[in-house]
Amino acid sequence: MELLKLEGVDVKIEEKQILHDISLKINKGETHVIMGPNGAGKSTLGHAIMGNPKFEVTAGRILYKGEEINDESPDKRAKAGIYLSFQNPLEVPGVSLSNFVRTAGEQISGERIKFMQFRRKVEETLDILQMGKEYADRDLNVGFSGGEKKKSEIFQLLMLKPTLAILDEADSGLDVDAVRIVSEGVREYKENMDGTLLIITHSTRILQSLKVDVVHIMVNGRIVDTSDASLIEKINAEGFERYLANA
Ligand code: ADP
Ligand code: MG
Ligand code: MG
Repeated sequence: MELLKLEGVDVKIEEKQILHDISLKINKGETHVIMGPNGAGKSTLGHAIMGNPKFEVTAGRILYKGEEINDESPDKRAKAGIYLSFQNPLEVPGVSLSNFVRTAGEQISGERIKFMQFRRKVEETLDILQMGKEYADRDLNVGFSGGEKKKSEIFQLLMLKPTLAILDEADSGLDVDAVRIVSEGVREYKENMDGTLLIITHSTRILQSLKVDVVHIMVNGRIVDTSDASLIEKINAEGFERYLANA
């Protein structure tokens, strides 16, 4: 089933066109990767799919489950099952990690979540990510290290079980152990929660324990190549130079 489809999408930020003619198609259960150098527009693509109002879609269509969502609010998109993990997770003083996720979960499902059951799930999930139970009651991301912030994003992923997860540099700035844990968390989502993934990255370490179906290369706001997972090795060996030379 076709879950997400972009048809010729252009995106502007503050009058500057960042993305040009982006087309891609993600079927349910697939794992897609977007690679590209800094400033290519990868995060912009994630925000545009999530519907962040700062990112204006000026041409083309974004379709989710066959319906155009260009004009839907981020809230509606989240309710429909789209999740974006931020490259730079926000710190939210006064709201604990577990309350944040509980509220988000209740808003998305429209149902109240039973406390005891929820608490058990929180502790199990923290355990998977090798985070102590005390993180549940800490203010969201406040004083978290870079690695802890990334784990907190994966915690939210595992708790909210979205239909489509867009992970923006979930592995940047992590040490090898943290990368392995984050990577395990992503695999858990994919395999046990029937997940569909769009993974934005400019490194490839997070991909090591995942079966990747499609790789897209983004340079200067355009998708310049799309291929199977073998492209990852090629990028590792050669970088993005040959794409930049032609850009
Ligand atoms: P990537 O994630 O691939 O590193 P980004 O999507 O963050 O790239 O950025 C793409 C381009 O858009 C860059 O030139 C960046 O400076 C610009 N850009 C990103 N966010 C903003 C913003 N909020 N305001 C203005 N320009 C932005
Ligand atoms: Mg960047
Ligand atoms: Mg980025």
